[in-house]
Amino acid sequence: QALNDFLDLKGNIRVFCRVRPFLPDEICGYARRVLTSDTTKLFLRIADDKNKQYSFDKVFHPQSTQEEVFSEIEPVIKSALDGYNVCIFAYGQTGTGKTYSMEGVPSNPGLVPRGIRAIFEQALESNYTFQFTFSMLEIYMGTLRDLLVPQSTKQRVHKACLSIQMNSLGGIEIENLVSIKDSLTCISLTCSAAPERQKETNKIWMVDLGGSERLLKTQATGRRLEEGKAINLSLSALGDVISALQHKKNHVPYRNSKLTQVLRDSLGSDSKTLMFVHVSPKEEDLCETICSLGFATRVR
Ligand code: ADP
Ligand code: MG
Repeated sequence: QALNDFLDLKGNIRVFCRVRPFLPDEICGYARRVLTSDTTKLFLRIADDKNKQYSFDKVFHPQSTQEEVFSEIEPVIKSALDGYNVCIFAYGQTGTGKTYSMEGVPSNPGLVPRGIRAIFEQALESNYTFQFTFSMLEIYMGTLRDLLVPQSTKQRVHKACLSIQMNSLGGIEIENLVSIKDSLTCISLTCSAAPERQKETNKIWMVDLGGSERLLKTQATGRRLEEGKAINLSLSALGDVISALQHKKNHVPYRNSKLTQVLRDSLGSDSKTLMFVHVSPKEEDLCETICSLGFATRVR
């Protein structure tokens, strides 16, 4: 049923919002909450008498558990075994819970460990034989780095810089990427699990995106400023690609960033994409929250 619902949706892209709870050190009585929500709407108080409303496919409120979030995406992850590519993104300002959603904390694992477990369990129940490979990579200032190449080895110098190739079938291959077979590696940044079915390979990408905060606010300089610029560039390129796919545009601008080049064969018609937009409940983060919700509106 969830799959059928998905097929009816425009562009196969769903946008969720997750509101972080106040953290223990923020509950001091003065922090004012600027967000309220129901299951698909978020209401933002931008002035005492002014609310702005945003619509999502689903809103997870501050008390939503990791289980609740996972149960919503489980069918989508499992659809990789039925021949879909899956991309799950965590977007938002630094500190809003992207890594909490993706990786989780030891006492409360997130979507990546839960997703790997679910797909293994589903594969075991299936009549097909699947082969899994896991990869983890990082895009840093426009360069791809393989996170499964140990830092200390000389190899990292030679092999950790990866290049992207397109094969004759239009699939994206990342040269030299180290793959670990049948391993439950702890995957934190970007991962792809590829269940191979006959000759067909499907990918699940789980992407913990760089913080979306604007540079002026962070007052970054030097290398931090360059990092910020690189992140902003790839986030806006991602937004452009998803927006073009949602509106079924003829031209999808994949080439504009490393991120969208890597994901090129996994974002599109036979793939399912979930974007989690993370927001802070705090009044002082209101400007960033408005920007993140603007991004959500553009890709929805
Ligand atoms: P980001 O990756 O977006 O920078 P983090 O995932 O590191 O943010 O979250 C910042 C802090 O807030 C962490 O201490 C994290 O454990 C906590 N946190 C985030 N989301 C939640 C949540 N839904 N419930 C409880 N704690 C959370
Ligand atoms: Mg993080």
